[in-house]
Amino acid sequence: MSKSEDCLFCKIIDGRIPSEKVYEDDTTYAFKDINPKAKVHVLIVPKDHYANVAELAAADPAELAHIVGLAQGIADKEFSGAYRLVFNTGLDAGQTVFHVHAHVLTGEKLDE
Ligand code: C5P
Repeated sequence: MSKSEDCLFCKIIDGRIPSEKVYEDDTTYAFKDINPKAKVHVLIVPKDHYANVAELAAADPAELAHIVGLAQGIADKEFSGAYRLVFNTGLDAGQTVFHVHAHVLTGEKLDE
């Protein structure tokens, strides 16, 4: 399992920093965003460290597909099956944590 010592989300995944876990399996961890932008705002992260979604897609496309499936499952459970899936990629797009994470926004009708 690839880790990065200074990575906030690696520390969340291994429990060194607390989080409100909503799902975990062998490859993937999901937790509530501490600054929610929707009624339900979950972050889904691969346990392996990749800086962004392009790196993840190149190295492990099955994990990326797994994350999309988990997002759909959260939206099915929490709402009508509708959701927004966001991967901020790069500083100028608002990425602040350089461990790839899917923002799953759902639980209510979202602004366009
Ligand atoms: O896409 P971006 O890198 O900006 O997203 C990082 C997200 O991580 C933010 O939405 C922030 O609220 C969340 N976060 C968190 N728990 C932390 C630190 C950041 O949920 N301890």
